[in-house]
Amino acid sequence: MEKSSVEIFDENYARVLERIAEAAVKSGRKSEDITLLAATKTVEVGVINHAIESGIKYIGENRVQEFLSKEPDLLPVHKHFIGHLQTNKVKDIVGRVELIHSVDSYHLAKEISKQALRSGKVCDILVEINVGLEESKFGFSPENATESIAELSSLDGIRLRGLMAIPPVCDSSSANIKFFEQLYKLFIDIKAEKIDNSNIDILSMGMSDDFECAIRCGATMVRLGTALFGKRNYNV
Ligand SMILES: *Cc1c(COP(=O)(O)O)cnc(C)c1O
Repeated sequence: MEKSSVEIFDENYARVLERIAEAAVKSGRKSEDITLLAATKTVEVGVINHAIESGIKYIGENRVQEFLSKEPDLLPVHKHFIGHLQTNKVKDIVGRVELIHSVDSYHLAKEISKQALRSGKVCDILVEINVGLEESKFGFSPENATESIAELSSLDGIRLRGLMAIPPVCDSSSANIKFFEQLYKLFIDIKAEKIDNSNIDILSMGMSDDFECAIRCGATMVRLGTALFGKRNYNV
């Protein structure tokens, strides 16, 4: 008999927790120092709620419409937005999620600031770095990151919490080490600058194929979809 989505999750989740703990120890940290975020695009609410009941505390969605349609039925959980966000949809997201990982332009940050001020809230954000300088990906180039971040931080209504990146797809997880190391260095540099409106403590990097490597390079948050829920039938 084919396994149900819930059974697949249960098996994977136990294994993922072990792998995170091992990688954390190898980087001289504890597993509690690494936040596991379940990337839940295309995953049904029933399965997400099962994951939450099993111990998942953070979820991240990629698409505004999908997030809004699932949100009313979700059990209590920390909700993050991790996909590319269009400025005209910012108003639907600010106030509904705790953290936006994917701030990839000044223009977007400005809109988040505006909507946050309008609703009297402060919105936590990560700045997305296009670490592989890929045309198909969003984000600031590592070279301009420090400058761009200084510019963003002057906006009211947002609080900078750190960096996020999606390095190039590589055939071996160790191939991404140089990108992860580059991101970690940038994270430390930015932290050291003690920028206004910031509290830099999150380095969101590492996905199903490379999360152990990311943790060993200093990730504080990993975003896992496939490793938890199994293969999706399409790419997002
Ligand atoms: C889908 C997605 C993930 C998880 O990807 P997997 O390879 O399935 O673990 C992480 N981050 C973002 C931004 C995603 O869109």
